[in-house]
Amino acid sequence: MKKLNVLPPSPEESKEDKAVGPGRFPSWLHRKLPSGSEIFQTNAIVSKYRLNTVCEEAKCPNRLECYTKRTATFLALGKACTRNCGFCDIDFSKQPIAPAADEPERIALSVRDLGLRHAVITMVARDDLPDEGATHIAEIVRAIRKENPGTTVELLTSDFSGRTELLDIVLAEKPEIFNHNIETVRSFTPRVRHKAGYERTLSVLRHAKSTKLSHYVKSGIMLGFGEKDEEVRETIRELYEAGCDVITIGQYLQASSRKLLVKEFVSPERFKALEKYGHQLGVTHMYCGPFVRSSYNANLFVPGKEAIIST
Ligand code: SF4
Repeated sequence: MKKLNVLPPSPEESKEDKAVGPGRFPSWLHRKLPSGSEIFQTNAIVSKYRLNTVCEEAKCPNRLECYTKRTATFLALGKACTRNCGFCDIDFSKQPIAPAADEPERIALSVRDLGLRHAVITMVARDDLPDEGATHIAEIVRAIRKENPGTTVELLTSDFSGRTELLDIVLAEKPEIFNHNIETVRSFTPRVRHKAGYERTLSVLRHAKSTKLSHYVKSGIMLGFGEKDEEVRETIRELYEAGCDVITIGQYLQASSRKLLVKEFVSPERFKALEKYGHQLGVTHMYCGPFVRSSYNANLFVPGKEAIIST
């Protein structure tokens, strides 16, 4: 089988790698797909305002479920990213189009029409822009708040190259939840997101926590690249020490043949064990399971309105 990893495989991986592809999913990844008019309504609202969602651009496996719940995660600053991470299927461009000046307002109106009480905004990395998109993201938060008083906001941002002056622009808007994903364990970071850095992510999270401007600091990990449980536990511990209140852990799935191969399907029992480990450390919310994504059921963790979680 032809291998189409974004990054060349390590010598060790070349010997061992096997694709685990569609049709070979374990039983716990089979589920009945939801249906209902809400899916079309959510799509219609997103289309009406010409918005991008990470649900569509990253081919998230939960999109039908989330759309049924009239939820989507908006992808701001265009739909082309200046990085080309090994796991992520969002289009790559060194010079994406300029941010649309009216995008903040269009997102705010879409939040209103969807009736979202908790809005999650994510972004492509815009290393090409002087402020890497920070000012635009801040404008989106202001527009949502103006149009939707009472709606809480979660920002799932890039690392802004670790530039604290840019992070401070978005944190100054006091998003209820500041989210930045570490994505994988330390050893896999160069292959999974070669333009980011494990330590840089920890410093971004530490900085967000130190400002006390968000109620929760959140991060997420994907499993299935071949990482060991000890490494995952180390990452959970380091996220906790960096100040994370919420940690999500889900199964990595290959969104297209251009992306990194799935090396392993992690059982629900292992997810549960990792969840327990995080709770024992003192993490406020661990949300772990095969279908968990960073923004999956994000409304469960709204500060002060948390639901009892059962994955
Ligand atoms: S889990 Fe997140 S990215 Fe996936 S469909 Fe739901 S809201 Fe969108």
